[in-house]
Amino acid sequence: MNCLQPSNGVFLAGLIVFFLIRYVFAIRAKCETKSVSKFDGIEKLLLAAMFPPTLLLPLLYLFTPLLAFADYRLPSSLPWCGVVMMLSSLWLFYRSHADLGLNWSVSLELRKGHELITDGVYKFIRHPMYAAIWLWSIAQGLLLQNWLVGWSVIPVFAAMYFHRTPREEHLMCELFGDTYREYMLRTGRLLPRIWTKNSAESHRQSH
Ligand code: SAH
Repeated sequence: MNCLQPSNGVFLAGLIVFFLIRYVFAIRAKCETKSVSKFDGIEKLLLAAMFPPTLLLPLLYLFTPLLAFADYRLPSSLPWCGVVMMLSSLWLFYRSHADLGLNWSVSLELRKGHELITDGVYKFIRHPMYAAIWLWSIAQGLLLQNWLVGWSVIPVFAAMYFHRTPREEHLMCELFGDTYREYMLRTGRLLPRIWTKNSAESHRQSH
């Protein structure tokens, strides 16, 4: 069974932790009433499309020989990079759920009394949860040495990320106005800004 190989076993343990984190926070946020929902057909389709590469294909690969035709070997150091990325992803995934608290939802929604979170990991980047999923997508490719199972999350998540993020930011601007626009100036989407737009301007003026 594939799951007995060390890197595959590590991935399986990480996958369980990943879904446990999501489950615990989903239960907590379940009772919160929604005031706005943009969970349209495309959002539903993209969310459903995440199921095969994140869960179905890894489980088929780990527990059956069905996908062995796409197996390949990576240099032995790369799965270690995958472990580091997976642990970083799990930490960021946990922290972003904890910091967002009851404002979290699986799709594009606003809760009654929705609060703008700009602290914790949200102090540095606007989309730490999506950053965690990007890290996870790369970790999966480095840990599961199968072309199909390892790398199929990236194009599917890319479609979701590039569809969702501008709409989410637009929704946040509608609700929080200048407060969110100023927050956008001091933070990056996935990586921290080295300097804010204002300090970039003063930097230019001093030269
Ligand atoms: N894009 C964020 C949050 C993903 S959860 C991240 O990657 O961490 C998606 C929900 O979070 C959206 O429906 C939106 O309403 C909410 N959201 C996004 N950023 C937020 C913020 N800074 N404060 C409060 N809610 C936020």
